[in-house]
Amino acid sequence: MKYVSEYRDEAVVQDYVAEISALVTRPWSLMEICGGQTHTIIKYGLDQLLPPSITLIHGPGCPVCVTDMTIIDQALTLAAQPEIIFCSYGDMLRVPGTSTDLLAVKAQGGDVRMVYSPLDALTLARKHPDRQVVFFAVGFETTAPATAMAVYQAHQQQVNNFSVLLAHVLVPPAMEAILSSPDCQVQAFLAAGHVCTVTGYAGYHQIAARYHTPIVVTGFEPVDILQGVYLCLKQLETGHAQVENQYGRSVQPQGNLPAQQLMNEVFQIMPRVWRGLGTLAQSGLGLRKPYADLDAQLRFADRLPNLPLLHALTPSNNTCISGLILQGLKKPHECPAFGTQCCPEHPLGAPMVSSEGACAAYHRYRAVAFN
Ligand code: SF4
Repeated sequence: MKYVSEYRDEAVVQDYVAEISALVTRPWSLMEICGGQTHTIIKYGLDQLLPPSITLIHGPGCPVCVTDMTIIDQALTLAAQPEIIFCSYGDMLRVPGTSTDLLAVKAQGGDVRMVYSPLDALTLARKHPDRQVVFFAVGFETTAPATAMAVYQAHQQQVNNFSVLLAHVLVPPAMEAILSSPDCQVQAFLAAGHVCTVTGYAGYHQIAARYHTPIVVTGFEPVDILQGVYLCLKQLETGHAQVENQYGRSVQPQGNLPAQQLMNEVFQIMPRVWRGLGTLAQSGLGLRKPYADLDAQLRFADRLPNLPLLHALTPSNNTCISGLILQGLKKPHECPAFGTQCCPEHPLGAPMVSSEGACAAYHRYRAVAFN
């Protein structure tokens, strides 16, 4: 398959591993931003092919994982309301809130539906004008344009029973938070190719310069990752700190301009609380004033704080170290609950649920090695 097979070619992988081995003269630590990249690294054992002096740190690029507990609890509260059809991407359904998850709410009678797109939720709203339809909008810049389109269409077509519970987050502020931390071990970034397909990468130049940190926009196949690692190491070994684009088959410097225009029309940038990173200024998306009546937090504000607590189905726990995992300070197998108390069938934290979560990747591809 074009654009896939050649990026999984074992001979090319071995060539890059040899090039990297010949290049490095000292230890370096690189962070891959995106959980999709983490899964590729763990699935294909790329970290084990690299010289031992190279450490790959798994970043916070799993949108389900970084969604704060408060907003998950708000989602659970809304999903339990009889007049609401609550729509979510599948990954969110099993993420534990304080005391339960969306699937459990559904089992208790909540009308919770899995959708593939916010436009599917908008279609539901048109079909059920007597119900309120809320879409749980989670994701990075990658999925934000689709949310913007649903909000824009609902506003234009006056679909007044549609709203969104917004949890969108932006990648560059998280990169800056990581680099600003006194515990930071990251010396270069593999930036997320799909995010940059939307945003371009002009905004990354000032991060690379300010923190003297190489940033390579990188794809998701094994050869993509190794090319990204090679380009980062070449800069590190020569003292450079620039932005480079490994993922040229998808990413243009300016990104997707119509998508950005739509996002700018609908969204304004605001602070957002990240699991593991805390509150980051300018790191989230809210609705601009003309669209504010489509904000589920505002529409249901009077009811959210007064609703009864939900049934406890999932025990709350202090064991989960997902905050440290999301900052790249610990690896999943270093969590005491990994593979014992916490597994995909009984997750204690979002990184074990999400298809992009680091704990899920380690459990799927490395569980035997750590048990
Ligand atoms: S293994 Fe489970 S409990 Fe441990 S950090 Fe990951 S999600 Fe949390």
